[in-house]
Amino acid sequence: MPIVRVALDVPLNILFDYLAPDTEITAQDIGRRVRVPFGRNTKTGLIMEVTTHSSVDPLKLKHITHIFRDIPSLSPALLDLFHFCSEYYHHPLGEVVMNGLPTRLRSNKPFTQNFPSAFHYCLTAAGRAADTSAIPARSIVKRRLLAKLRESGAMTGSEAKQFSQRAPKALKELVALRWVEEIPIIPFETSASGVKTAPVPILTPAQQNAIDVITPEINAFNTWLLHGVTGSGKTEVYLRLISLLLRQARQTLVLVPEINLTPQLEAVFRARFPAVKLVSLHSGLSPSERAAGWLQAQQGDAEIILGTRLAVFTPLPKLGLLIVDEEQDASFKQQDGLRYSARDIAIFRAKYAGVPVILGSATPSLESYYNAMSGRYLRLGLPSRAVKNAVLPMVRCIDTRAVKTKESFSEPVIAALEKCLSLNQQSLVFINRRGYAPVLLCKSCGWTAVCHRCASRLVVHLREKKLRCHHCGHQERFPGFCQECGDQDIAPFGHGTQRVEAALIQRFPDARIMRIDRDSTSRKDAWGRMLKDIQEHRVDILVGTQILAKGHDFPNLSLVVTLNSDASLFSTDFRASERLFAQLMQVAGRAGRADIPGEVLIQTEFPDHPLYHALRQHNYDLLAQTLLEERKTAGFPPFVYQVLLRAEAPRIDAALDFLASAASIAKAPKQVEVFDPVPAQMSRLKGMERGYLLVQCRSRKKLQEFLAGWRIKLDALPSYKVRWTLDIDPLEF
Ligand code: ADP
Ligand code: ZN
Ligand code: ZN
Repeated sequence: MPIVRVALDVPLNILFDYLAPDTEITAQDIGRRVRVPFGRNTKTGLIMEVTTHSSVDPLKLKHITHIFRDIPSLSPALLDLFHFCSEYYHHPLGEVVMNGLPTRLRSNKPFTQNFPSAFHYCLTAAGRAADTSAIPARSIVKRRLLAKLRESGAMTGSEAKQFSQRAPKALKELVALRWVEEIPIIPFETSASGVKTAPVPILTPAQQNAIDVITPEINAFNTWLLHGVTGSGKTEVYLRLISLLLRQARQTLVLVPEINLTPQLEAVFRARFPAVKLVSLHSGLSPSERAAGWLQAQQGDAEIILGTRLAVFTPLPKLGLLIVDEEQDASFKQQDGLRYSARDIAIFRAKYAGVPVILGSATPSLESYYNAMSGRYLRLGLPSRAVKNAVLPMVRCIDTRAVKTKESFSEPVIAALEKCLSLNQQSLVFINRRGYAPVLLCKSCGWTAVCHRCASRLVVHLREKKLRCHHCGHQERFPGFCQECGDQDIAPFGHGTQRVEAALIQRFPDARIMRIDRDSTSRKDAWGRMLKDIQEHRVDILVGTQILAKGHDFPNLSLVVTLNSDASLFSTDFRASERLFAQLMQVAGRAGRADIPGEVLIQTEFPDHPLYHALRQHNYDLLAQTLLEERKTAGFPPFVYQVLLRAEAPRIDAALDFLASAASIAKAPKQVEVFDPVPAQMSRLKGMERGYLLVQCRSRKKLQEFLAGWRIKLDALPSYKVRWTLDIDPLEF
């Protein structure tokens, strides 16, 4: 009897063996979902291997409950991708596999939708190998269908019908023999009508150069770093490359950092390629929608697959190109469970498939920049704005040591906002903190309201009269007095978006002011409507967080003001400056279009800081080189590779003790440095105390070798009440 080895969503780095009836299972079933008994329940998993022997006593093996034949098996390429992730991130294979599937396909139910009655009929390996002489000579239709399928591999139901009226019946019989597989065709929403095709612009010399350089290499693996200033027209470069791939009937995967960016990009793609088969994959879809899009990709029907980080696991049989837009963005890294970087996986996939991957950014991550400098990546620059006569905005610092501020605003900033209003142009006030104020403070004893579950202060949300923790979601009523000394003189301290909005309303009562942050955009479709209002100029002043900074085109915007960015200059996080710079470059990049020159005002107490200096000159390279020097001296990435062993427990001692034991069994070779356990920057989260152990090495290979051995010892280490995980290439500490 065959034995199937199944990946299950459990935190153990093993496959589980089950018996399968030999009439049902063949090697063709590798990559299919199965339901199996597990403990007292059943679980859905994926067949990774079909074999005949098991290290488990055959008498103890259980039988599979059901094999799903609702969708085609996952391809060996996708299974290899899961294997790679499991090995590289040292994460249990079963969790990797199940994390990679859409939720709908992880459930215990088969995937049925209200499918139309249209199907693809694909020849299986059994069908290809089958002895046709076994088919009775009078079954002419069946014979001829099989011969045709052996030529073409697949046909649709309607093609079969044209072939013969009796074809449907014959196909059903071939399906019953498992010589042919019946796969539902999921129709695409047709957008061809209604969408206006956009005119194709003449490329700028820099865009033309990028296309000319990439085109001859379009079918080869390379990692291209498309480094283009804001508004330089990176999207146009993507569009031209995608059109090359469409002509080759190959698929393009486009990853964006934010779900909010998908509708806009989708519209751009549809306007250029009205008949394109495009699917969007992100967490905002219903499980069925996502599974349907995933299947369209798996069947090679979808030509453009646009999505957030989870889309990097989409099966793509005709993959021809990968694009990672805003590659530096931290949201490409998953921060729990399987802590993967979608950008890095995209590069792995490109290499595996032998196709190019394009990393696009105005401010590349230092890792990517360094790789481009050292020749591992190929860098292409777009140094100026694409639209004729458009220039980068003028950046000025307002020294808040020299001028007074009132409710966060200095006089020069107020004057600039006023001028913008009088010219009927839009302005944007950027403050990367939502809520009314970050702190509730007692003026007599200095008490501040803190979250009882996290090492963080509660944020004042004045309108809702609530205090909220932005880390765990806990909220409570606004207290009437100090919890420490009982004094009633408690007040919000500092500024968040709500408070800035309130100040602006008071100062400019006639202006149309819109606040954009996670609170104001949380309702479904809210952001889409707000974006429309902005673009159609029904808003004068925008106040918002980094949601506003990313990639959006605001045609009427001429002034950008940033408040409160100084805190990140002196953070203990060595990536804080890099992130701040990227964020400010991005938000500054929203200002100014062809006919309106833009202006950016930065309120700061440190106008001479190198970061602001580089920002004023729009000089990414200057800052990148300074930061790289610092990283080199300090021995930080990209000069070393890092791994965190994270541990959390109800008590910090338990977490740190576990980490100390982990360090003591590490037995690291000389090149691998193992540091002492320390509490995490966010030392308590959701009631759990957290610590980590940093391990680093100059060689990725050596580090990986060490981890493979260490991981096995860690699995054997007693970890009473401690939850631990490895975070490879961590971004947060
Ligand atoms: P980026 O993503 O690099 O910041 P976009 O791709 O959003 O820039 O392009 C900025 C603007 O320039 C868009 O309005 C786009 O339509 C326009 N654009 C791009 N390429 C050209 C071109 N070759 N000629 C004229 N306009 C262009
Ligand atoms: Zn007090
Ligand atoms: Zn909390």
